[in-house]
Amino acid sequence: MSEGLDEKLEPIYREVLHRNPGETEFHQSVHGVLESLGPVLVKYPEFAELKIIQRICEPERQIIFRVPWQDDKGELQINRGFRVQFNSALGPYKGGMRFHPSVYLGIIKFLGFSQVFKNALTGLPIGGGKGGSDFDPRGRSDAEIMRFCQSMMTEMYRHIGEYTDVPAGDIGVGQREIGYLFGQYKRLTNRFESGVFTGKGLDWGGSCVRTEATGYGVVFFTEAMLDARKESLDGKRVVVSGAGNVAIHAIQKAQLLGARVIACSDSRGVILDEGGLDLDLIRQIKVRERGPISAYAERRKGAQYNEDGCIWEIPCDIALPCATQNELTAKDAKTLIENGCVAVAEGANMPVTPEGIQAFREAGIAFGPGKAANAGGVATSALEMQQNASRDSWSFEYTEGRLQEIMCNIHRTCFETAEEYGAPGNYTTGANIAGFVKVARAMEAMGHI
Ligand code: GLU
Repeated sequence: MSEGLDEKLEPIYREVLHRNPGETEFHQSVHGVLESLGPVLVKYPEFAELKIIQRICEPERQIIFRVPWQDDKGELQINRGFRVQFNSALGPYKGGMRFHPSVYLGIIKFLGFSQVFKNALTGLPIGGGKGGSDFDPRGRSDAEIMRFCQSMMTEMYRHIGEYTDVPAGDIGVGQREIGYLFGQYKRLTNRFESGVFTGKGLDWGGSCVRTEATGYGVVFFTEAMLDARKESLDGKRVVVSGAGNVAIHAIQKAQLLGARVIACSDSRGVILDEGGLDLDLIRQIKVRERGPISAYAERRKGAQYNEDGCIWEIPCDIALPCATQNELTAKDAKTLIENGCVAVAEGANMPVTPEGIQAFREAGIAFGPGKAANAGGVATSALEMQQNASRDSWSFEYTEGRLQEIMCNIHRTCFETAEEYGAPGNYTTGANIAGFVKVARAMEAMGHI
């Protein structure tokens, strides 16, 4: 995977491979950024001298810990907890917690590394970090989730804080988990420190629009990409993978803007509803019942469920991968291109493989990388931190307006940076360079940190 790297970057990448054996997702995300940085070293030769790239690829701190907890049968379970504090040059470490059986250090490091540049792109004062556990919340009772979260926080509380590290949600971590984590933090520290967590409930320090923000932001970014090509979402056929928080709110906003969203999925299968997805029914099944998406086809006439189906085979104008990493391959990209897809935006982190991205680029399709397209979630987290710091709370309309403005700014930054560095229309290059330069300059200013 080292082809395409500038000769100065090649040895840096090799060193990353050597120092982090077996962490394939981390390698992939580092490679994806280094690929864009050749022209940056020409413009800023001092970054090479100061070894900024080598420093950025090494997390500032990595914490791995045991999380013991008792299940409902009284049996002791042992999971592994992680918090990787990647870079704090722009602000406290910021990034979500993922609870999923696939979690290991390589996943948390890929997410933390991407988060550094994503957070820089928001223009808000937040560094990058990520955490999580290999705990599988599927099928667990509320009481089990609570005991797990309390055990997790019993170790984590000493490493986080509103000026140090501010976690939030990600896959498997929503408001319920954040409530249990925050409650245990409050108990252990005897402080109601709202700013230590984002994604909180509206009654206890959360921000309007935080739940909706990632999905809404993806659609605002897509709209901006279409606008740059004198197109709009109106009447477009949209396919959204996933059925979690990001997917649900991407579907909602796309529908509000006049698109016809016809398909979504979960880890077990795909739903196709040519009449347009019924979002209330999806919420009922996925949010309230926490059940499988197959139930949708049982309750809605005309909808089809395809177990093990590939969502990218459904012809569409716009594809929004909002499930998980590497869910859209080169083969899927080719199918989408052949079916006339014009725009793709990553709602999940790194859902499109490098070969998939290349296929989209070669076909001239508008492609919004996750660092830019899904930055609305963490941007609204930073707005939540602002509200907490001033003990204020803003209205839904005002907060959504701020989110929309941030997404338009991110789009403009990526678009203009890509032009400036000779890669017009390449949002991946634009996002990587703009995010990197901001962090690199701060690191340069702060000395050998
Ligand atoms: N997990 C989200 C992301 O990937 C949000 C992180 C946050 O709000 O801190 O950006």
